[in-house]
Amino acid sequence: MHRDSRGGGGGGASKSEIMGGLSSLDRKRINDPLDKHLEKSSPSTSRVLKDKSSAVLATAAVPSTSAGIGGAAGKSHQRLDHRDTRSSSTLTTNKIKASDDESVTDSEESDVSGSDGDDTSWISWFCNLRGNEFFCEVDDEYIQDDFNLCGLSSQVPYYDYALDLILDVESSHSDMFTEEQNELVESAAEMLYGLIHVRYISTTKGMAAMLEKYKNFDFGRCPRVYCCGQPCLPVGQSDIPRSSTVKAYCAKCEDIYYPRSKYQGNIDGAYFGTTFPHLFLMTYGHLKPQKPAQGYVPRVFGFKLHRP
Ligand SMILES: [Zn+2]
Repeated sequence: MHRDSRGGGGGGASKSEIMGGLSSLDRKRINDPLDKHLEKSSPSTSRVLKDKSSAVLATAAVPSTSAGIGGAAGKSHQRLDHRDTRSSSTLTTNKIKASDDESVTDSEESDVSGSDGDDTSWISWFCNLRGNEFFCEVDDEYIQDDFNLCGLSSQVPYYDYALDLILDVESSHSDMFTEEQNELVESAAEMLYGLIHVRYISTTKGMAAMLEKYKNFDFGRCPRVYCCGQPCLPVGQSDIPRSSTVKAYCAKCEDIYYPRSKYQGNIDGAYFGTTFPHLFLMTYGHLKPQKPAQGYVPRVFGFKLHRP
């Protein structure tokens, strides 16, 4: 279902044509899933569509993409991206370049493993996309319980379609959608999944799923030397969507960092929330590390610096 929604429509049009109106960062964020779709959709489909639809898309798709989600939420998203990813990309191009490459390679591998087989659910597909490593897979049961989704329909555009997409429910409307509408539904599904995810990870089951990921170092390790590779947990600086990107929280130095992968650095922090790592460490108290015994001391020719 999630494959059809994009593979069929505007598969072939080049990214820059579709996303002409958006900032480059937004384009990347939005197109990452799109790229994955394109890889999966049959080459012949995209080839045929490329010639026919690219011209149309160049004129038609841009305004409608920047309206809807792109208009209301996307505006603040652009702001968010500019504010937050600048330093994270500086970070990644800097000293830890090597490890960034490493994490990218890792996620690429995981992406490949998630994309084989046609019976992959939207949720597994989504969680295996590059950059989405911080997300755990939310139980279908949890999503199917309306009580858990209370209040979300007013926050997410195309709510019903987005929900159908997440749950792999074949919607009779999906064939009627244009490819740009499908793309909006796809973005809406991402947002809806994020807002469900932040609720889910404070439940027993969600917490357990995140524990598995924590043990797997899926959230990365603290870059601070004296934290000795302490595994991190994802945290948001705000619970309001589109206000800041996700950060990695180290329980040892009790500080937050930009995720090492620039793809992860584009994820909305509200999909993890301000509470999660702390509730997690209260739940699994034995995982709370000791405070670091050592700190870094700056020296000049062996002498500690005088601090007035
Ligand atoms: Zn640390």
